[in-house]
Amino acid sequence: MSRLEVHQFPCLSDNYGYLVHDPDSGLTATIDTPEVEPIHAALDARGWKLNFIFNTHHHDDHAGGNLELKSQTGCQIIGPAADADRIPGIDRVVGEGDSVTLGAWAFTVHDTPGHTRGHIVYHCPQAGIGFVGDTLFALGCGRLFEGTPQQMWTSLQKILSWPNETLIYCAHEYTQANARFALSVEPDNADLLSRNDDIDAARQRGEPTVPTTLGLEKRTNPFLRPDSPHLQETIGLSGHPLVEVFARTRELKDQF
Ligand SMILES: [Zn+2]
Repeated sequence: MSRLEVHQFPCLSDNYGYLVHDPDSGLTATIDTPEVEPIHAALDARGWKLNFIFNTHHHDDHAGGNLELKSQTGCQIIGPAADADRIPGIDRVVGEGDSVTLGAWAFTVHDTPGHTRGHIVYHCPQAGIGFVGDTLFALGCGRLFEGTPQQMWTSLQKILSWPNETLIYCAHEYTQANARFALSVEPDNADLLSRNDDIDAARQRGEPTVPTTLGLEKRTNPFLRPDSPHLQETIGLSGHPLVEVFARTRELKDQF
């Protein structure tokens, strides 16, 4: 079986578009539809035809290109059952534990409410990759527009159960700003300090900081570290329940 190919490209001001291609079957999926033109350009440059849209959530910078791409390519749109009424052109609804395939590759779907009520993520254990939309970011997590801290923390724990080496493809390049906040709540985290330097260097060179790995996020992302005594102490919640620490961290980021 040939390797699954992932092509990443910038869309809009700070989104990433992703095409996933299985060379054996010739099938191609786009993860969300932030912007139609760059998606077409990426397809054309590789001679790929679009077969599927895998949507993570309903926001316009994720599903805004659905109808145009569907009418142009005849692709099938797969998206969250919990938000079927807000995903334009949806053909197939999926939720927790469902499997979505691209040729012989299987992606497990997880419901990850919090950023929106119907957010889902796609995990392909065989390929060691996960598409997490706006649930998890490099050094951050999505804003809680339609969910509670408890819901988001439960959602993030599903991602935390994946192997550490999993490549995490998130939907935005927010990492440099996220690093500033992360350092404010864990100023003595040595892994975070060194990662911050790496991030600044990468952005200076105009390079993306995405994908990241789950293992690196576990060591440095404050939203995955409510069990860190250092973080708990910095925000004044030593020994408090993890969901309370998570909620406070999210509040502090909203005000940062
Ligand atoms: Zn969003």
